[in-house]
Amino acid sequence: MDPLDILDNLDDIKPVYQPIVSAIRHTVVGYEVLGRCRNEDEWESLGPFFHDQDVPEEFKVEVDQHLLHIALTEMLEAGIDGYLFINRNAKQLMINDGEDLLQLLLDFEEKGFAMNRIVIEVTEHDFDEAFENLNHLLLYYKTFGIQIAVDHVGAKSSNIDRIRQLEPHILKIDTNIIRRQKADGFQDIMHSLSMLARRIGAALLFENIEDNFQLHFAWKHGGRFYQGYYLAKPGFALDGQSVLAVNVTDKISEYIQREKQLVEQRLHHVLNWEQKVKNLLPFWEGTKKADSFIEGLTNDFEEESFRMFICDSDGHQISSNFRKREGQWEIEPDKKGSNWAFRPYFLENTMQMKTWSRGILSEIYSDIETREMIRTFSFPLTEEYFLFIDIRYAFIFENESLLI
Ligand code: CA
Repeated sequence: MDPLDILDNLDDIKPVYQPIVSAIRHTVVGYEVLGRCRNEDEWESLGPFFHDQDVPEEFKVEVDQHLLHIALTEMLEAGIDGYLFINRNAKQLMINDGEDLLQLLLDFEEKGFAMNRIVIEVTEHDFDEAFENLNHLLLYYKTFGIQIAVDHVGAKSSNIDRIRQLEPHILKIDTNIIRRQKADGFQDIMHSLSMLARRIGAALLFENIEDNFQLHFAWKHGGRFYQGYYLAKPGFALDGQSVLAVNVTDKISEYIQREKQLVEQRLHHVLNWEQKVKNLLPFWEGTKKADSFIEGLTNDFEEESFRMFICDSDGHQISSNFRKREGQWEIEPDKKGSNWAFRPYFLENTMQMKTWSRGILSEIYSDIETREMIRTFSFPLTEEYFLFIDIRYAFIFENESLLI
């Protein structure tokens, strides 16, 4: 539609609301406001209007203010609590120093709509231009209690510094990144986003959730809020919980049971490995015979491992490497004398093993030598010597419980 037509017929535009669900209570805790425009009998998205570079920002502000006015009024009239998420781009916000939006919100605060129920979504793309001005304005908004969300996080990973500077309350993650990235890629992206969120105290909101798999993913990766067609489409009515297409409590209960099973299976692996090593402990005869001790273990870890060695508590390797190549265990004596104490968690883990007298299974990490994703099972042979058994990727991959 012609932008001018839209402006001339503000009566033909209306907000729609897409529910946002909390992971904590499994209930609708707010709505994102989107715009619809009547075109004869159809209600069309106002997305193309807002994303059109040729439409003057002033027009967009006017339409947005109109939509927001209706949304605030409708929420107040319906007596609905919860958050109202609104989208604003940087250029729009900068017009008149962002005072129009603030004034409207202040008017409604007097009518009983608390400022801290408003969440302004800005997109990462906006950080490219005039970031300092935007940051300044958002800081100002925050002093009124208004919350800030960064939309489409992860689309451009280079903005991590700026997100940190902005300290938003919420990071909105487009669940599409799961579909677009290869497995390792999105694990890494998710890992850095979770770390970032924890550092700055932001909640993760997963949007565009379209199926059970994605909801599970969002739950598993610490999402505090969920949004998407799988839960509810945007609608004209503010009808809360009744609009949800799936029973979130049931779904989450399934994920919890599944996760508990996997953790249990993983711990079972660890207990089993511990037992195998314990059975051979009577054959530990000190460092001079370290290699023959490992040799005695090779049969027991035939399926699981591709490399084994022993270090002392300072990280010195006191055995050869036992390295499996093409189904054969080879002995690499030249690895003796290496020091591994510089590796992340090495000393922490050996101290833990010594203190609790039990084995530890590492996280998944990329092995320096093979470049494959592996895990290491380690076990205290004595208070001074520690056995390291590297678990090969193929074994991890065959056992889902080891992939988490
Ligand atoms: Ca949005």
